Amino acid sequence: MSLVVVGTVAFDAIETPFGKTDKIIGGAATYSGISASYFTKDVKLVSVVGEDFPMEMIERFKTLGMSTEGLQVKKGQKTFFWSGRYHVDMNTRDTMDTQLNVLLDFDPVIPSSYQDCDFLMLSNLMPQLQKKVIERMQKRPRLVVMDTMNFWMETQMDALLETIKLVDVLTVNDSEARQLTNEYSLVKAAQKILAMGPKYLIIKKGEHGALLFNKEQVFFAPALPLEDVFDPTGAGDTFAGGFIGYLAQTRDISFDNMKRGIIYASAMASFCVEKFGTERVLELKQSEIDERVQQFVNLVQFDIELV
Ligand code: AMP
Repeated sequence: MSLVVVGTVAFDAIETPFGKTDKIIGGAATYSGISASYFTKDVKLVSVVGEDFPMEMIERFKTLGMSTEGLQVKKGQKTFFWSGRYHVDMNTRDTMDTQLNVLLDFDPVIPSSYQDCDFLMLSNLMPQLQKKVIERMQKRPRLVVMDTMNFWMETQMDALLETIKLVDVLTVNDSEARQLTNEYSLVKAAQKILAMGPKYLIIKKGEHGALLFNKEQVFFAPALPLEDVFDPTGAGDTFAGGFIGYLAQTRDISFDNMKRGIIYASAMASFCVEKFGTERVLELKQSEIDERVQQFVNLVQFDIELV
């Protein structure tokens, strides 16, 4: 089933306790789109880059089965740039620089071949642009998933709340859930966020797993205990792409299937952090994904007899 992915395609500069990169390819839609492409070959990208963006990467997107008809290349302009530095625990980071560049006057165009999409992934982007994409869809997709980050909470809270109202699933990390609601308890934060509009909420907790909520139920998925984490950049986007990609592949948007989706999402994110940037997620084999999902099953499976 077709899936439209909207978000940033970017250059990133990253510093972790294990190393440093200058300009490498990143962006929320890059990670989400690549991750989803392992589940459905019907991924359609909507984004914008400057003329400094390498054509080989756009070709690479195509070989993964992604349509790039909705990816605008702006002559004489520079691609969005983000730079971040991770703390020793790798669960927290500081944004060192955000240069919106080509995003400043980005007007997302939805090609007619994208119009009948069933699934819409609003990866991290200015909230008013995420809203514009929903409005520009002639038919409401079966499921709209939205990711966002603290940057937009600090700079565009009103627009963010307007967009959150319109989506089915919101994904945020634990500190963002707290920032959005002023609640320390994630259960109370979840109740407040679900009252803002979304029917489902996913709270990502980095190496401590992820929680899926609707108004009545909650599900917890662990993160795989990994020996080495090199670079967490894009893990959240890879997670979201795996989640919606799995739902699009299985065509089932029930809470029970979302639980399976969260396990696939966590498996995809666990690959992302193993190398810098997109390196690891670009080279995955289906057998590796299957093995990793099996590791998740083994991790949480136990027998118990209640006495
Ligand atoms: P994550 O680690 O999952 O939060 O995603 C990191 C990716 O998001 C990087 O590749 C960045 O290029 C991109 N990014 C960083 N800041 C923003 C922002 N304010 N809006 C959209 N994308 C961003």
